[in-house]
Amino acid sequence: MNVRRLLREFDIQPKKSLGQNFLVDQRALERIVEAAELGPEDLVLEIGPGLGALTRLLAAEAGRVVAVELDQRLVEVLKQTLTDLPNVEIIHGDILELNPADLLEQQGDNFQYKVVANLPYYITSAIIRHLLTAEVRPKLMVMTVQLEVARRITAEPGEMSLLAVSVQFYGRPRIVARIKAGAFYPSPQVDSAVIRIDLDDYPVVEVDDVDSFFEVVRAGFAQRRKQLRNALAAGLALPASEVAQVLNRASVNPRRRAQTLSLEEWAKVWREMQTRSISRKD
Ligand code: SAM
Repeated sequence: MNVRRLLREFDIQPKKSLGQNFLVDQRALERIVEAAELGPEDLVLEIGPGLGALTRLLAAEAGRVVAVELDQRLVEVLKQTLTDLPNVEIIHGDILELNPADLLEQQGDNFQYKVVANLPYYITSAIIRHLLTAEVRPKLMVMTVQLEVARRITAEPGEMSLLAVSVQFYGRPRIVARIKAGAFYPSPQVDSAVIRIDLDDYPVVEVDDVDSFFEVVRAGFAQRRKQLRNALAAGLALPASEVAQVLNRASVNPRRRAQTLSLEEWAKVWREMQTRSISRKD
């Protein structure tokens, strides 16, 4: 597929504000599809099909592809150029406003789907959060993101962030390929990476109240330069001395900083907060 020719033919200027950097490198497209390990039994949700380069490859491997595109101009192109693919459905809309189960027309929670996308970078974290907190989470996500974001998502204790904890809470992320800026048209300012996240049915750590767990984690990262004792005290409106006791009981030194904690340690801190009977003062 010739992206530049299609853009000319349909008189379309890529919109930077919508993260429109189209993949023009065939090998990069193939690597994304390979990482998703698709078969005829697979139902794929593609976010931002753009001009359909990835969509076409996905349709060749998967049973059904539902692709959500925000830009009406591109929806028009896709509807004209993908007519030969009966297993592809194009939906005009904003992925952040849509529930995957509705999009895929599935009911109940015993269906499986994979998300494959070359994401619009201006809303990468919001899309990931949206999918991870969806009523039915995908079983696999393969996405092109900025290299720096891919590194943040796959970080280890010492370099953790709220994004890393959020993703690693639900699944196992890894970088499967690096993609040079020149593989896109127009080229973004930065290099990219393909990230694969295998999602489990249950969170990686034992936590039965996800909202209150993330209240604690968010409080820790809200003031990441502070020692955990002070960050949690400020974020949860608790006396620092009490937070220090909680941390000690969880075997976490109160002077450590949020980015050094592993998932298991966050879970222990949360559990000790729970046994304190309230996790924050309202
Ligand atoms: N998949 C194409 C490719 O690989 O060449 C295009 C990828 S481009 C990086 C991102 C696409 O996401 C664009 O087509 C853009 O219009 C679309 N997009 C941006 N924001 C969106 C949103 N909120 N919901 C759905 N699609 C969106």
